[in-house]
Amino acid sequence: MPDAVTASTRKVGLIGWPVEHSFSPAMHNAAFSKAGLDWVYLPLPVQPEPAAVEKAVSGLSALGFAGANVTIPHKLSVMPFLSEISHTAQTVGAVNTITVCPNGDAVGDNTDVYGFLAPLKEYETTLEGADALLLGAGGAARSAVYGLALAGASRVVILNRTVSRAEKLVREMREAVGGLRLEVIPLKDTPAAEDCQLVVNTTSVGMHPLTEDSPLPSDFGWRPSLLAYDLVYNPRETRFLAQARSAGAVCINGLEMLLFQGVKSYEIWTGTRPNIETMRNELYQHFAR
Ligand code: NAP
Repeated sequence: MPDAVTASTRKVGLIGWPVEHSFSPAMHNAAFSKAGLDWVYLPLPVQPEPAAVEKAVSGLSALGFAGANVTIPHKLSVMPFLSEISHTAQTVGAVNTITVCPNGDAVGDNTDVYGFLAPLKEYETTLEGADALLLGAGGAARSAVYGLALAGASRVVILNRTVSRAEKLVREMREAVGGLRLEVIPLKDTPAAEDCQLVVNTTSVGMHPLTEDSPLPSDFGWRPSLLAYDLVYNPRETRFLAQARSAGAVCINGLEMLLFQGVKSYEIWTGTRPNIETMRNELYQHFAR
């Protein structure tokens, strides 16, 4: 964030409800400062009514914003009011980044898929042809399934409490994931870990305040060569990750996905790469408080 906000300061923000406790303004403003960019990131509370969402989206251009992030509950409800929606956002069915073009058009994108994949970059050879267990079938699961398809995984077994929801996800995403095999089983029928290389938790089980809960049974066969990725970020070390870590598995926490979805939004708006350590420090400090 610049020392003084002036008429020439470029503006971006976060459309959501509520937005009071969001980490995004601190994370982006720290990165703008570090880069010496005259940009500011503002919380933009927008009530959950279609008329308010429509006004907010058209207001971005009218107020000279360069773009905005979109969070709960507006990731779907902004879509009818955008001029264009990227292939990724259409595939996962949600927009989390809007860019305002010079002609005023608002374009929707989704950086959660990039955010999901970026922490897996150093394991890309493991992912190529991999079998994965994916717990959950909500919004986050869609980004993860598409991400795993892009990473060249071979098979994803989706475990969900509500089987029909997972089946719907498979129906809607089958075409987009190309050769990736998708299977569905009930969460309670967790299979053995033997044949998979990666386990991703996209359920909200283990999230604050129910931090003692895990989506997996305590005798799940974690082993050192397994990758454990929990999209839950509060707490940073969930029970799911603690169980995996104690068996020597490689662990990735949900703050890393949050970090990299923000990194990608910053890149889309400014055309430059942010200082990732600056953003990571802000994010980790926010959740330590
Ligand atoms: P969502 O659409 O509401 O989906 C929630 C998922 O959790 C569903 O699969 C649901 O199963 C399952 N679930 C909820 N309570 C459960 C329980 N008691 N037992 C078994 N399964 C349960 O939520 P979402 O947007 O996908 O988010 C899911 C989690 O990912 C949240 O913790 C969220 O904070 C996190 N997330 C993280 C990032 C990141 O950047 N790190 C990004 C997005 C989301 P049913 O279908 O049976 O209800």
